[in-house]
Amino acid sequence: MKITQVEVDVLCVPVAQPYSAAGRQVTGNWHVLARVTTADGVQGHGYIVSPRQALVAAVGQATRELSSQLIGMHVLEVEAAWERLAKAGDWIGPGGLLHYAIAPLDIALWDAAGKTLGQPLYRLLGGYRDRVPAYASDGLWYNLSLEALAASAGKHVANGYTAIKMRLGHEAHPEDEARRVHAVREAVGPEIRVLVDATETWQLGQAMQTGRALQEAGIAWLEDPVQHEDVTGLATIAQDLLIPVATGEHLYQLSDFHRLFQARGTDIAIIDLGRIGGITPWRRVAALAQAYHIPVCGHVIPEIHVHLLAAIPNSYLVENVPRSEAILQGMPALEAGCLVAPSGPGLGIALDADAVQRYRVS
Ligand SMILES: [Mg+2]
Repeated sequence: MKITQVEVDVLCVPVAQPYSAAGRQVTGNWHVLARVTTADGVQGHGYIVSPRQALVAAVGQATRELSSQLIGMHVLEVEAAWERLAKAGDWIGPGGLLHYAIAPLDIALWDAAGKTLGQPLYRLLGGYRDRVPAYASDGLWYNLSLEALAASAGKHVANGYTAIKMRLGHEAHPEDEARRVHAVREAVGPEIRVLVDATETWQLGQAMQTGRALQEAGIAWLEDPVQHEDVTGLATIAQDLLIPVATGEHLYQLSDFHRLFQARGTDIAIIDLGRIGGITPWRRVAALAQAYHIPVCGHVIPEIHVHLLAAIPNSYLVENVPRSEAILQGMPALEAGCLVAPSGPGLGIALDADAVQRYRVS
C-alpha cells in the first residue's frame, strides 16, 4: 500500500451564508485540498480552510512542493510522513506556513489509512464515542443589532443546538458588551450554553472589567479575551474570573500549548487543525492537555474535528461551522445537540469531484 500519487489543488468554495470576520464580509472560503492515492487505488483527501486568499495561495504552493516526499511511503506510516514533511520544509518553518502546508497532506494520509483498514477515523484513533456535543458558531456576529442577535440565537436553539457562540469586542463599554450577552441569554433561556468569543480585541484591564460584567450572565466560556501571546494576562483572567477561559486557536506548536498549560493560562484548549499541522500534532496537543486535566475543542472544520474529538477522553465541544459543504457529500448530522461522526471508512465524507473541478482556482 505505497503512495503512488499526490494531487494538490487550491479552491474557492462559496459560503452558503456569508459571514462577517475581522470586520469584513466573507463570501468564499479558500481551500488547499490534497488527494493521495495508493498502489491499490485507495484515495484519501485532506484540506485546510481560510477566508484569506493570499495565505491559501502560498500554502498551496508549499503543499505542492512538499507532496513529492510522500511518494513511495506506506499509507500507514502517517507519523513518520509528518516528520519527513517537516524536515523537507524546514526552510519555511518552524510552525507558520509549514504547518498549514503539511496539514492537508497529513489529513489525507489519515483518511487513506482509515479507508485501507476499513475503519472510520474516530474508531481507528481511539473510539471513545461516536458523537460529540456541538455548538453553533455562525450567525451571532458583532455587527448584528440586539434584536437580530436574539433572533439568530433563537433560530439555533430551534434547530436543535444546546450550545451557541457569540462574538464580542466591538463595543466601547463593558456594559454594552454585557447587554449583548443578556439579550442572547434572554432569547435562549437558562438551559442553553452560551459561549463568548472576544477575538483578542481587549486589553487586560478591559477584559477583566467586561469579564466581571459577564459573570452573572452564566456564560460557559470566555474565548480569547486578550492577545494569545499574553499568557500572563490569560492566566490572570483564568484565576480571577468565575468564567472558564478558552484559547489556543492561534497556536502553532506543541511547545506553545505546553507554555500556556504550565502557566494555567486557559481552562479549555482550542486546537486549530491547520495551524497545528494536521491530525498527527493535533493529537499530541490533546494528550498534553489531558495531563493538565484540560478539556479540548476543535477550531472550525467540524466534519473532521468530530472524528478527533470522538477519539480522545478529554473532548468537550465541537464547533459546528461547516465551510466545505459545497465540495463534500455525507456531512455529519446533528442529533439531540450532538454532531454524529460519519461511520464510513476514513473521514467518511466523499468529495464531490464535479464541485472540486468547478471551484478549482489552481
Ligand atoms: Mg475564536
